[in-house]
Amino acid sequence: MRTIVLTTGGTIEKVYSEQEGSVVNAAQKIGRYLKQLRLPDRDVEVIPVSNKDSLEMTAEDRAELARKIAEIVGRCDGCPIVITHGTDTMTETGRYLQRAFPQPGVPIILTGAMRPLGFEGSDGLQNLTESLLAARLLAPGVYIVFHGQVFAADRTRKDREAGTFVAAEPD
Ligand code: GLU
Repeated sequence: MRTIVLTTGGTIEKVYSEQEGSVVNAAQKIGRYLKQLRLPDRDVEVIPVSNKDSLEMTAEDRAELARKIAEIVGRCDGCPIVITHGTDTMTETGRYLQRAFPQPGVPIILTGAMRPLGFEGSDGLQNLTESLLAARLLAPGVYIVFHGQVFAADRTRKDREAGTFVAAEPD
């Protein structure tokens, strides 16, 4: 069975830039980390869509993401989708995808990290692993999977102080 991973950037993919003296979105690195996982019955296809801090995501970026999802659903019947994304606007994209795909037919899972993959204390590989498992188990719908929790995309918010996602009422 195949799972599709769409990458859009965010902290999970950030790298340290010596020139800028800060972490930035540069090259896609999700694929490299996925190779570390033992997934004997699972073929994971990584498709880079964009690579930016999610605060800089535009309406066109989200429309492009929705186009990619529609394309995947068309060619890969029943393939669940995991999207790596910045945490600051993850719920916004989640709600957008819920409207774009009211009955998606497969689980669509957004995930990310509070610390970049490869950095000490990173939660990136944990969130990726949990999302890949959740993608096999959940009913069709749009979700956020983060730190061992699963939320419907419109029933969660980022809690900055706690450094994670928490349950919230839909707007
Ligand atoms: N502002 C960044 C973003 O949303 C950092 C937050 C994160 O990914 O954790 O992409």
